[in-house]
Amino acid sequence: MTAPLAAPDTDGAASAAFIEKRPLERYVAPDKPSLVGLTRDALAAALGGIGVPERQQRMRVAQIWHWLYVRGVQDFDAMTTLSKELRTELARHFTLARPDVAAEQISVDGTRKWLLRLPGETDSRPCEVECVYIPETDRGTLCISSQVGCTLNCTFCHTGTQRLVRNLTPGEIVGQVVLARDRLADWQRAASPSGDGEKRLVSNVVMMGMGEPLYNFEAVRDGLNVVADGDGLSISKRRITLSTSGVVPNIARAGEEIGSMLAISLHAVTDELRDQLVPLNRKYPLRDLLDACRNYPGVSNARRITFEYVMLKGINDSLVDARALVRLVKGIPAKINLIPFNPWPGTQYECSDWEEIEKFSEVIFNAGYASPVRTPRGRDILAACGQLKSATEKLSARERLALRAMAMTD
Ligand code: SAH
Ligand code: SF4
Repeated sequence: MTAPLAAPDTDGAASAAFIEKRPLERYVAPDKPSLVGLTRDALAAALGGIGVPERQQRMRVAQIWHWLYVRGVQDFDAMTTLSKELRTELARHFTLARPDVAAEQISVDGTRKWLLRLPGETDSRPCEVECVYIPETDRGTLCISSQVGCTLNCTFCHTGTQRLVRNLTPGEIVGQVVLARDRLADWQRAASPSGDGEKRLVSNVVMMGMGEPLYNFEAVRDGLNVVADGDGLSISKRRITLSTSGVVPNIARAGEEIGSMLAISLHAVTDELRDQLVPLNRKYPLRDLLDACRNYPGVSNARRITFEYVMLKGINDSLVDARALVRLVKGIPAKINLIPFNPWPGTQYECSDWEEIEKFSEVIFNAGYASPVRTPRGRDILAACGQLKSATEKLSARERLALRAMAMTD
Protein backbone atom coordinates (compact mmCIF):
# COMPACT_ATOMS: atom_id res chain seq x y z
CA MET A 1 0.00 0.00 0.00
CA THR A 2 1.34 3.41 -0.83
CA ALA A 3 0.15 6.69 0.56
CA PRO A 4 -0.68 9.50 -1.84
CA LEU A 5 2.36 11.70 -1.61
CA ALA A 6 1.05 14.84 -3.18
CA ALA A 7 -1.57 16.64 -1.16
CA PRO A 8 -3.67 19.16 -3.11
CA ASP A 9 -2.43 22.44 -1.64
CA THR A 10 1.30 22.15 -1.69
CA ASP A 11 3.90 24.30 -3.34
CA GLY A 12 5.84 21.26 -4.46
CA ALA A 13 9.17 22.78 -3.48
CA ALA A 14 10.60 20.84 -0.55
CA SER A 15 9.66 17.35 0.53
CA ALA A 16 8.06 18.80 3.67
CA ALA A 17 5.66 20.64 1.39
CA PHE A 18 4.15 17.30 0.45
CA ILE A 19 3.33 16.71 4.06
CA GLU A 20 2.29 20.16 5.21
CA LYS A 21 -0.41 22.07 3.38
CA ARG A 22 -0.58 25.81 3.43
CA PRO A 23 -3.69 27.71 4.49
CA LEU A 24 -5.83 28.84 1.57
CA GLU A 25 -7.36 31.71 3.46
CA ARG A 26 -6.67 34.04 6.32
CA TYR A 27 -9.08 35.08 9.04
CA VAL A 28 -10.72 38.45 8.42
CA ALA A 29 -12.09 39.98 11.61
CA PRO A 30 -15.62 41.38 11.32
CA ASP A 31 -16.19 45.12 11.82
CA LYS A 32 -17.71 44.34 15.18
CA PRO A 33 -15.65 41.57 16.75
CA SER A 34 -16.89 39.21 19.46
CA LEU A 35 -15.38 39.42 22.93
CA VAL A 36 -15.74 35.66 23.37
CA GLY A 37 -12.37 33.94 23.60
CA LEU A 38 -10.08 36.94 24.04
CA THR A 39 -7.31 36.46 26.60
CA ARG A 40 -7.49 38.73 29.65
CA ASP A 41 -4.77 40.93 28.13
CA ALA A 42 -6.55 41.15 24.79
CA LEU A 43 -9.81 41.97 26.55
CA ALA A 44 -8.11 44.73 28.54
CA ALA A 45 -6.66 46.12 25.31
CA ALA A 46 -10.11 46.03 23.68
CA LEU A 47 -11.53 47.97 26.61
CA GLY A 48 -8.65 50.44 26.39
CA GLY A 49 -9.54 50.90 22.73
CA ILE A 50 -13.01 52.20 23.63
CA GLY A 51 -11.72 54.57 26.28
CA VAL A 52 -11.88 52.52 29.53
CA PRO A 53 -9.07 54.07 31.63
CA GLU A 54 -6.14 51.79 32.42
CA ARG A 55 -6.71 51.82 36.20
CA GLN A 56 -10.22 50.39 35.69
CA GLN A 57 -9.32 47.77 33.13
CA ARG A 58 -8.46 44.89 35.46
CA MET A 59 -11.67 45.19 37.39
CA ARG A 60 -13.78 45.51 34.23
CA VAL A 61 -12.07 42.49 32.71
CA ALA A 62 -12.86 40.44 35.85
CA GLN A 63 -16.51 41.53 35.73
CA ILE A 64 -16.96 40.83 32.05
CA TRP A 65 -15.08 37.52 32.41
CA HIS A 66 -17.59 36.38 35.03
CA TRP A 67 -20.59 37.30 32.88
CA LEU A 68 -19.09 35.64 29.83
CA TYR A 69 -17.72 32.41 31.28
CA VAL A 70 -19.58 31.73 34.53
CA ARG A 71 -23.01 33.08 33.67
CA GLY A 72 -22.87 32.62 29.91
CA VAL A 73 -24.74 35.83 29.08
CA GLN A 74 -25.36 36.61 25.43
CA ASP A 75 -26.36 40.23 25.80
CA PHE A 76 -24.37 43.17 27.19
CA ASP A 77 -27.54 44.41 28.92
CA ALA A 78 -27.45 41.41 31.24
CA MET A 79 -24.06 42.55 32.61
CA THR A 80 -25.69 44.41 35.46
CA THR A 81 -22.49 45.10 37.41
CA LEU A 82 -21.40 47.42 34.57
CA SER A 83 -22.77 50.92 34.18
CA LYS A 84 -25.45 51.49 31.57
CA GLU A 85 -23.05 53.76 29.65
CA LEU A 86 -20.32 51.14 29.50
CA ARG A 87 -22.80 48.46 28.37
CA THR A 88 -24.02 50.73 25.58
CA GLU A 89 -20.47 51.52 24.54
CA LEU A 90 -19.51 47.83 24.54
CA ALA A 91 -22.54 46.96 22.41
CA ARG A 92 -21.61 49.71 19.95
CA HIS A 93 -18.18 48.19 19.30
CA PHE A 94 -18.40 44.49 20.10
CA THR A 95 -20.67 41.46 20.12
CA LEU A 96 -20.87 38.33 22.28
CA ALA A 97 -21.32 36.16 19.20
CA ARG A 98 -20.62 32.44 19.20
CA PRO A 99 -20.00 30.36 16.08
CA ASP A 100 -23.19 29.90 13.97
CA VAL A 101 -24.74 26.44 14.06
CA ALA A 102 -25.37 25.20 10.51
CA ALA A 103 -26.70 21.79 11.58
CA GLU A 104 -27.35 19.96 14.80
CA GLN A 105 -27.72 16.21 15.17
CA ILE A 106 -28.70 14.34 18.30
CA SER A 107 -27.96 10.63 18.53
CA VAL A 108 -30.11 8.11 20.34
CA ASP A 109 -27.23 7.68 22.81
CA GLY A 110 -27.27 11.39 23.66
CA THR A 111 -24.24 12.33 21.54
CA ARG A 112 -24.74 15.72 19.94
CA LYS A 113 -22.97 17.04 16.95
CA TRP A 114 -22.87 20.60 15.70
CA LEU A 115 -21.68 21.69 12.31
CA LEU A 116 -20.43 25.23 12.83
CA ARG A 117 -20.25 27.91 10.18
CA LEU A 118 -17.41 30.38 10.59
CA PRO A 119 -16.69 33.43 8.47
CA GLY A 120 -14.62 32.80 5.34
CA GLU A 121 -12.30 35.31 3.74
CA THR A 122 -15.12 36.18 1.37
CA ASP A 123 -18.86 35.88 2.04
CA SER A 124 -19.25 33.42 -0.78
CA ARG A 125 -17.33 30.66 0.95
CA PRO A 126 -17.95 30.28 4.67
CA CYS A 127 -15.84 27.80 6.62
CA GLU A 128 -17.27 24.82 8.43
CA VAL A 129 -15.96 22.78 11.34
CA GLU A 130 -17.55 20.40 13.74
CA CYS A 131 -17.87 19.98 17.44
CA VAL A 132 -19.23 16.89 19.23
CA TYR A 133 -20.59 16.44 22.77
CA ILE A 134 -20.33 12.90 24.15
CA PRO A 135 -22.14 12.23 27.44
CA GLU A 136 -20.85 9.41 29.64
CA THR A 137 -21.87 8.34 33.11
CA ASP A 138 -19.10 10.14 34.97
CA ARG A 139 -18.31 12.96 32.59
CA GLY A 140 -19.34 14.85 29.48
CA THR A 141 -16.66 15.30 26.85
CA LEU A 142 -16.63 17.97 24.21
CA CYS A 143 -14.53 17.24 21.13
CA ILE A 144 -13.43 20.50 19.49
CA SER A 145 -11.65 21.50 16.28
CA SER A 146 -8.51 23.59 15.82
CA GLN A 147 -8.40 24.16 12.04
CA VAL A 148 -10.75 24.28 9.07
CA GLY A 149 -9.39 21.21 7.30
CA CYS A 150 -5.92 20.09 8.37
CA THR A 151 -2.30 20.95 7.65
CA LEU A 152 -1.54 17.23 7.41
CA ASN A 153 -2.67 14.29 5.29
CA CYS A 154 -2.99 11.11 7.35
CA THR A 155 -4.27 8.53 4.89
CA PHE A 156 -6.97 6.97 7.13
CA CYS A 157 -8.45 10.34 8.14
CA HIS A 158 -11.07 12.06 6.05
CA THR A 159 -10.01 15.52 7.24
CA GLY A 160 -6.54 14.71 5.91
CA THR A 161 -7.92 14.49 2.38
CA GLN A 162 -9.38 17.98 2.63
CA ARG A 163 -7.70 21.29 1.99
CA LEU A 164 -6.41 23.37 4.87
CA VAL A 165 -8.65 26.42 4.65
CA ARG A 166 -7.43 28.28 7.71
CA ASN A 167 -6.54 28.15 11.38
CA LEU A 168 -9.23 28.85 13.95
CA THR A 169 -8.84 31.92 16.16
CA PRO A 170 -8.75 31.63 19.98
CA GLY A 171 -12.29 33.06 19.94
CA GLU A 172 -13.49 30.28 17.65
CA ILE A 173 -11.80 27.64 19.83
CA VAL A 174 -13.32 28.99 23.07
CA GLY A 175 -16.56 29.69 21.16
CA GLN A 176 -17.10 25.94 20.69
CA VAL A 177 -17.10 25.38 24.47
CA VAL A 178 -19.31 28.41 25.11
CA LEU A 179 -21.73 27.30 22.40
CA ALA A 180 -21.96 23.77 23.83
CA ARG A 181 -22.77 25.24 27.26
CA ASP A 182 -25.49 27.39 25.60
CA ARG A 183 -27.03 24.46 23.73
CA LEU A 184 -26.94 22.10 26.70
CA ALA A 185 -28.33 24.71 29.11
CA ASP A 186 -25.14 24.07 31.05
CA TRP A 187 -24.74 27.58 32.50
CA GLN A 188 -27.68 27.01 34.82
CA ARG A 189 -25.90 24.12 36.50
CA ALA A 190 -23.67 24.84 39.48
CA ALA A 191 -19.96 25.08 38.92
CA SER A 192 -18.26 22.90 41.53
CA PRO A 193 -16.35 24.73 44.29
CA SER A 194 -13.17 22.83 43.32
CA GLY A 195 -13.27 24.74 40.06
CA ASP A 196 -13.23 21.40 38.31
CA GLY A 197 -16.43 21.82 36.38
CA GLU A 198 -17.76 18.64 38.01
CA LYS A 199 -21.46 19.37 37.95
CA ARG A 200 -21.48 20.86 34.51
CA LEU A 201 -22.44 18.64 31.61
CA VAL A 202 -19.32 19.67 29.70
CA SER A 203 -16.67 18.53 32.18
CA ASN A 204 -13.89 17.54 29.76
CA VAL A 205 -12.52 18.88 26.50
CA VAL A 206 -10.56 16.93 23.91
CA MET A 207 -8.97 18.61 20.95
CA MET A 208 -9.65 15.73 18.59
CA GLY A 209 -11.93 17.32 16.01
CA MET A 210 -10.69 18.76 12.73
CA GLY A 211 -7.14 19.97 12.44
CA GLU A 212 -3.69 19.54 13.92
CA PRO A 213 -3.59 21.73 17.04
CA LEU A 214 0.20 21.99 17.17
CA TYR A 215 0.18 23.66 13.74
CA ASN A 216 -2.05 26.38 15.18
CA PHE A 217 -0.02 26.72 18.34
CA GLU A 218 -0.63 30.26 19.61
CA ALA A 219 -4.40 30.23 19.06
CA VAL A 220 -4.75 26.80 20.65
CA ARG A 221 -2.59 27.85 23.60
CA ASP A 222 -4.51 31.09 24.19
CA GLY A 223 -7.90 29.45 23.67
CA LEU A 224 -7.22 26.51 25.99
CA ASN A 225 -5.86 28.83 28.66
CA VAL A 226 -9.17 30.71 28.56
CA VAL A 227 -11.09 27.40 28.77
CA ALA A 228 -9.02 26.36 31.82
CA ASP A 229 -9.27 29.71 33.65
CA GLY A 230 -10.50 28.95 37.19
CA ASP A 231 -12.59 32.14 37.36
CA GLY A 232 -14.35 31.31 34.13
CA LEU A 233 -15.14 28.15 32.21
CA SER A 234 -13.01 26.30 34.78
CA ILE A 235 -12.29 23.12 32.92
CA SER A 236 -9.04 22.15 34.61
CA LYS A 237 -6.03 21.24 32.50
CA ARG A 238 -6.23 17.66 33.73
CA ARG A 239 -9.58 17.50 32.00
CA ILE A 240 -8.32 18.95 28.74
CA THR A 241 -6.53 16.65 26.29
CA LEU A 242 -4.67 17.89 23.26
CA SER A 243 -4.20 15.26 20.56
CA THR A 244 -1.35 15.57 18.09
CA SER A 245 -0.17 13.48 15.20
CA GLY A 246 3.37 14.21 16.40
CA VAL A 247 4.61 17.75 15.72
CA VAL A 248 7.73 17.03 17.75
CA PRO A 249 9.20 20.56 18.09
CA ASN A 250 5.97 21.84 19.61
CA ILE A 251 5.37 19.03 22.11
CA ALA A 252 7.66 20.37 24.85
CA ARG A 253 6.31 23.85 24.20
CA ALA A 254 2.75 22.54 24.62
CA GLY A 255 3.73 21.08 27.99
CA GLU A 256 5.21 24.36 29.13
CA GLU A 257 2.74 26.87 27.70
CA ILE A 258 -0.51 24.88 27.75
CA GLY A 259 0.05 22.11 30.32
CA SER A 260 -2.94 20.04 29.28
CA MET A 261 -2.99 16.26 29.03
CA LEU A 262 -1.36 14.95 25.88
CA ALA A 263 -2.53 12.31 23.41
CA ILE A 264 -0.37 11.05 20.58
CA SER A 265 -1.88 9.61 17.41
CA LEU A 266 0.57 6.73 17.12
CA HIS A 267 -1.28 4.21 14.93
CA ALA A 268 1.82 2.26 13.87
CA VAL A 269 4.85 0.71 15.55
CA THR A 270 7.35 0.90 12.69
CA ASP A 271 8.54 3.96 10.79
CA GLU A 272 7.81 2.15 7.56
CA LEU A 273 4.10 1.83 8.28
CA ARG A 274 3.77 5.12 10.13
CA ASP A 275 5.33 6.91 7.15
CA GLN A 276 2.31 5.69 5.19
CA LEU A 277 -0.44 6.26 7.73
CA VAL A 278 0.84 9.52 9.23
CA PRO A 279 3.15 11.04 6.58
CA LEU A 280 4.41 13.61 9.12
CA ASN A 281 6.41 10.66 10.47
CA ARG A 282 8.83 11.17 7.56
CA LYS A 283 9.76 14.48 9.14
CA TYR A 284 9.53 13.46 12.81
CA PRO A 285 10.13 9.70 13.08
CA LEU A 286 9.06 7.44 15.95
CA ARG A 287 12.29 7.74 17.90
CA ASP A 288 12.07 11.55 18.07
CA LEU A 289 8.38 11.38 18.87
CA LEU A 290 8.82 8.94 21.75
CA ASP A 291 11.75 10.98 23.10
CA ALA A 292 9.51 14.06 23.12
CA CYS A 293 6.90 12.02 25.05
CA ARG A 294 9.47 10.82 27.59
CA ASN A 295 10.48 14.43 28.16
CA TYR A 296 6.96 15.92 28.14
CA PRO A 297 6.89 18.47 30.98
CA GLY A 298 4.82 17.17 33.89
CA VAL A 299 4.47 13.60 32.64
CA SER A 300 4.06 11.16 35.55
CA ASN A 301 2.02 8.13 36.54
CA ALA A 302 -0.74 10.49 37.56
CA ARG A 303 -0.47 12.40 34.28
CA ARG A 304 -0.01 9.75 31.65
CA ILE A 305 0.26 10.27 27.94
CA THR A 306 -2.49 8.63 25.91
CA PHE A 307 -1.36 6.76 22.81
CA GLU A 308 -4.15 6.52 20.26
CA TYR A 309 -4.11 3.55 17.96
CA VAL A 310 -6.68 3.25 15.19
CA MET A 311 -7.50 -0.38 14.38
CA LEU A 312 -7.07 -0.96 10.63
CA LYS A 313 -7.88 -4.41 9.34
CA GLY A 314 -4.81 -6.31 8.11
CA ILE A 315 -2.64 -3.17 8.36
CA ASN A 316 -1.64 -2.61 12.00
CA ASP A 317 -3.78 -5.03 14.00
CA SER A 318 -1.66 -8.19 14.38
CA LEU A 319 -0.51 -9.54 17.72
CA VAL A 320 3.07 -8.84 16.61
CA ASP A 321 2.04 -5.18 16.35
CA ALA A 322 0.41 -5.34 19.78
CA ARG A 323 3.57 -6.70 21.41
CA ALA A 324 5.74 -4.16 19.58
CA LEU A 325 3.43 -1.39 20.79
CA VAL A 326 3.95 -2.45 24.40
CA ARG A 327 7.73 -2.48 23.88
CA LEU A 328 7.69 0.89 22.16
CA VAL A 329 6.00 2.81 24.97
CA LYS A 330 7.94 1.02 27.72
CA GLY A 331 9.18 3.48 30.32
CA ILE A 332 6.70 6.20 29.37
CA PRO A 333 3.76 6.69 31.77
CA ALA A 334 1.14 5.74 29.21
CA LYS A 335 -2.45 4.85 28.51
CA ILE A 336 -3.29 3.08 25.28
CA ASN A 337 -6.52 3.91 23.54
CA LEU A 338 -7.63 1.57 20.76
CA ILE A 339 -9.95 3.30 18.30
CA PRO A 340 -12.12 1.29 15.92
CA PHE A 341 -11.55 2.80 12.48
CA ASN A 342 -14.54 4.82 11.38
CA PRO A 343 -14.86 4.31 7.62
CA TRP A 344 -15.71 7.13 5.23
CA PRO A 345 -16.77 7.05 1.57
CA GLY A 346 -13.80 6.30 -0.66
CA THR A 347 -11.39 5.12 2.04
CA GLN A 348 -9.01 2.27 1.27
CA TYR A 349 -9.14 0.97 4.87
CA GLU A 350 -11.51 -1.21 6.84
CA CYS A 351 -12.03 -1.47 10.58
CA SER A 352 -10.44 -4.54 12.19
CA ASP A 353 -12.81 -7.35 13.13
CA TRP A 354 -14.05 -7.19 16.68
CA GLU A 355 -12.28 -10.44 17.64
CA GLU A 356 -8.96 -9.01 16.44
CA ILE A 357 -9.50 -5.85 18.45
CA GLU A 358 -10.24 -7.95 21.53
CA LYS A 359 -7.13 -10.11 21.10
CA PHE A 360 -5.00 -7.01 20.51
CA SER A 361 -6.46 -5.36 23.56
CA GLU A 362 -5.71 -8.43 25.67
CA VAL A 363 -1.99 -8.23 24.88
CA ILE A 364 -1.99 -4.59 25.96
CA PHE A 365 -3.98 -5.40 29.09
CA ASN A 366 -1.69 -8.30 30.06
CA ALA A 367 1.27 -5.94 29.78
CA GLY A 368 -0.27 -3.88 32.57
CA TYR A 369 -2.12 -1.18 30.64
CA ALA A 370 -5.79 -0.51 30.85
CA SER A 371 -6.63 -0.60 27.16
CA PRO A 372 -10.08 0.78 26.71
CA VAL A 373 -11.44 0.43 23.23
CA ARG A 374 -13.13 3.71 22.46
CA THR A 375 -16.75 2.73 21.99
CA PRO A 376 -18.09 4.15 18.80
CA ARG A 377 -20.62 6.78 19.85
CA GLY A 378 -23.40 8.32 17.86
CA ARG A 379 -22.90 5.90 14.98
CA ASP A 380 -26.39 6.80 13.82
CA ILE A 381 -25.22 10.34 13.13
CA LEU A 382 -21.70 9.45 11.93
CA ALA A 383 -20.45 11.11 15.07
CA ALA A 384 -16.77 10.17 15.15
CA CYS A 385 -14.79 13.35 14.95
CA GLY A 386 -14.03 14.23 11.37
CA GLN A 387 -17.19 12.76 9.93
CA LEU A 388 -20.10 15.22 9.99
CA LYS A 389 -18.53 17.75 7.69
CA SER A 390 -17.19 15.11 5.39
CA ALA A 391 -20.54 13.39 5.25
CA THR A 392 -22.64 16.46 4.59
CA GLU A 393 -20.17 17.82 2.06
CA LYS A 394 -20.27 14.72 -0.07
CA LEU A 395 -23.99 14.10 0.07
CA SER A 396 -26.67 15.56 -2.13
CA ALA A 397 -29.35 17.69 -0.49
CA ARG A 398 -31.75 14.73 -0.53
CA GLU A 399 -29.24 12.42 1.07
CA ARG A 400 -28.48 15.07 3.68
CA LEU A 401 -32.14 15.24 4.61
CA ALA A 402 -32.35 11.47 4.78
CA LEU A 403 -29.29 11.38 7.03
CA ARG A 404 -30.79 13.93 9.33
CA ALA A 405 -34.13 12.15 9.42
CA MET A 406 -32.33 8.93 10.24
CA ALA A 407 -30.49 10.60 13.10
CA MET A 408 -33.72 11.91 14.52
CA THR A 409 -35.76 8.72 14.29
CA ASP A 410 -33.32 5.87 14.78
N1 SAH B 1 -4.90 16.14 14.36
C1 SAH B 1 -4.90 15.60 15.66
C2 SAH B 1 -6.24 15.68 16.35
C3 SAH B 1 -7.46 15.41 15.51
S1 SAH B 1 -7.71 13.75 14.98
C4 SAH B 1 -4.38 14.18 15.65
O1 SAH B 1 -4.19 13.63 14.58
O2 SAH B 1 -4.11 13.66 16.72
C5 SAH B 1 -8.26 12.91 16.45
C6 SAH B 1 -8.01 11.41 16.47
O3 SAH B 1 -8.92 10.75 15.56
C7 SAH B 1 -6.61 11.04 16.02
O4 SAH B 1 -6.07 10.03 16.82
C8 SAH B 1 -6.87 10.54 14.62
O5 SAH B 1 -5.81 9.75 14.19
C9 SAH B 1 -8.19 9.83 14.78
N2 SAH B 1 -8.91 9.56 13.52
C10 SAH B 1 -8.91 10.29 12.39
N3 SAH B 1 -9.69 9.72 11.46
C11 SAH B 1 -10.21 8.62 12.01
C12 SAH B 1 -11.10 7.60 11.54
N4 SAH B 1 -11.61 7.64 10.33
N5 SAH B 1 -11.43 6.59 12.38
C13 SAH B 1 -10.92 6.57 13.64
N6 SAH B 1 -10.08 7.49 14.14
C14 SAH B 1 -9.72 8.50 13.33
FE1 SF4 C 1 -4.99 15.99 10.51
FE2 SF4 C 1 -5.21 14.52 12.75
FE3 SF4 C 1 -6.57 13.85 10.51
FE4 SF4 C 1 -3.93 13.53 10.60
S1 SF4 C 1 -5.45 12.48 11.90
S2 SF4 C 1 -5.08 14.46 8.90
S3 SF4 C 1 -3.30 15.31 11.81
S4 SF4 C 1 -6.86 15.70 11.73
